[in-house]
Amino acid sequence: MAGLLDGKALATQMQADLTQQVEHLTSKIGRPPGLAVLMVGDNPASAAYVRGKNKACDRVGIASFGQHLPSDTSQEQLAQIIHSLNTHDGVDGILIQLPLPSGLDSAALLQQILPEKDADGLHPFNLGALLREEAGLRSCTPAGVMQILKAYDIELTGKHAVVIGRSILVGKPLSLMLLAENATVTIAHSRTQDLAAIARSADILVAAVGRPGLIMADMVKPGAVVIDVGINRIDSATGNSKLVGDVDFASVEPIAEWITPVPGGIGPMTVTMLLHNTVCSYRQRFNL
Ligand code: NAD
Repeated sequence: MAGLLDGKALATQMQADLTQQVEHLTSKIGRPPGLAVLMVGDNPASAAYVRGKNKACDRVGIASFGQHLPSDTSQEQLAQIIHSLNTHDGVDGILIQLPLPSGLDSAALLQQILPEKDADGLHPFNLGALLREEAGLRSCTPAGVMQILKAYDIELTGKHAVVIGRSILVGKPLSLMLLAENATVTIAHSRTQDLAAIARSADILVAAVGRPGLIMADMVKPGAVVIDVGINRIDSATGNSKLVGDVDFASVEPIAEWITPVPGGIGPMTVTMLLHNTVCSYRQRFNL
């Protein structure tokens, strides 16, 4: 049986550490770090993520400046809100909850966030810094994956990492982070041919797609490290629903060396890296 990469436990430990830092820094500076999560529209999954982020802020003592805006909010109104948060002295981090309703240009809005307040590391400046292996804010989900690999001392140098998914939010930045740690990286996506053979060649296999059951046991090399980033809500006939990843946990767990669960794997790490980035931006502003 694979060992469990317990994102929930690691997140709890990191958040306890952040709570202490925030308490200490707040008394020194006179105000807590501040994070603004902007949500537009009523996507239920996004609403649940935003609630989770706001609760986590409360837990560690970060002030929330979040706004929930109606789905007919215009590009100009959002740009104006981002501008006012950029200049707000109590706000250290800004995150736009994606996806935005159709008609809004998320790339253009992400560019309006000041790079030093870009809590999800998706501004071209921070993505450029990642590409160049320079300091900068790193995207939360891939940073959470790297943090859990590090916490469990998983060797990356010379290993073959296969990342399935090439989004700007997860797959691409994660591939660059793994490369920076000297893994040999393959990126697979919806047009990849013979995904099963490529997946089977992975020492580190990451699924970031959004398709339940995409990764079955016959796609995993025995002894591989399997990271499941996917989050899919499955509704049952009885009206209940549950969250599953992209990996068929029951069949893969017996052959992998390490595996992340869903829920309790990368999800809590993503939230924790958001808090971490906010505290980093705050420290940076005060040279602490
Ligand atoms: P996305 O839709 O932007 O990208 C999905 C990627 O999967 C694309 O690059 C596409 O090429 C690839 N893909 C689609 N079908 C495929 C197939 N059959 N075979 C191989 N590749 C295929 O999604 P995203 O924003 O990158 O998110 C991916 C998943 O991760 C989703 O389930 C999302 O909910 C989840 N997610 C989880 C967290 C977390 O905190 N755990 C954070 C962000 C996203």
